[in-house]
Amino acid sequence: MKIILLGPPGAGKGTIAKVLTGYDGSVQISTGDILRAAVAEGTELGKQAEAVMKAGDLVSDDLIMGIMEQRLKQDDCKVGYLLDGFPRTIPQAEALKLLLGKMGEKLDCALELDIPTDVIIDRLATRRTCTQCGAIYNVKSKPPKVEGICDVCGGDIVQRDDETEEAVLNRLQVYSEQTAPLIGFYRDEGLLLTVQGSDGNQVLEALKTRLK
Ligand code: AMP
Repeated sequence: MKIILLGPPGAGKGTIAKVLTGYDGSVQISTGDILRAAVAEGTELGKQAEAVMKAGDLVSDDLIMGIMEQRLKQDDCKVGYLLDGFPRTIPQAEALKLLLGKMGEKLDCALELDIPTDVIIDRLATRRTCTQCGAIYNVKSKPPKVEGICDVCGGDIVQRDDETEEAVLNRLQVYSEQTAPLIGFYRDEGLLLTVQGSDGNQVLEALKTRLK
């Protein structure tokens, strides 16, 4: 499967991606994860992206396309991929279309997770992430066994810099202004599938029906 996951921050794209990769071995490619790793390693890319990410704004299209051109050409992508957090703007979607055309590939589906905004805000404000392995927790619905310590790897669990209330509200605004127009873009391309909610099994069933 070659799939784009669309939906606001906190819609559950990462969680759904894990369910779908488990189904057919496609790889999950998260531009947010790639950027966070670059920030943690202090690479040139990380230095360029850090302040922008902290404020909840978008990293430049050129920088993102540079990352994705390299990533999509790697061998593991041959099985299929789930793009999580990319594309995020119309210019990125157009550049992706050109790139895939050159590679002789095309997308199977753009899967939109439709979640009410109040659910998103609550979810992001209560979400916590392991600094080492990236496991996701929630202080209300999925706390770790020992406060502040990851059940999986023993790493520290923190609130991401861009999940403070101010950054969350900015990310949602950036989403509605710059990313939501992709829903129309992919509808026009005949690729859009919208699913209400973020239950992994329901999403997988909807996708299987669509791709039959
Ligand atoms: P995410 O984990 O997908 O919510 O991404 C975290 C942050 O990384 C975003 O708020 C942006 O600052 C940056 N980012 C991730 N993906 C992209 C993208 N495709 N285009 C621009 N910025 C991005």
